[in-house]
Amino acid sequence: MKEPLRRASVPARRLFITRMLRNVSLAVLGLAGGAVAVKRRRLLREGKCLNQGMCRMCDVFDDCGLPRALSTRNVVARIHGGER
Ligand code: SF4
Repeated sequence: MKEPLRRASVPARRLFITRMLRNVSLAVLGLAGGAVAVKRRRLLREGKCLNQGMCRMCDVFDDCGLPRALSTRNVVARIHGGER
């Protein structure tokens, strides 16, 4: 009596484990992404550069308030604005 039930539940268990692993993987990826975003925000708040001072290739260049980014924006504005 127990044997047919056990055989019938194997695919269901596989499906459950597959879905569980998929959901755990997605949760881990989401947590890792959130941790990276929080760390970047914390570093910027502490006044630390995220991209070793290479502002033009930095993802947060438009929003960065660090002195190097301000200086770079100023230079870029002067170059493109034609100021001397
Ligand atoms: S924009 Fe420049 S100063 Fe700001 S985090 Fe990026 S590289 Fe550092």
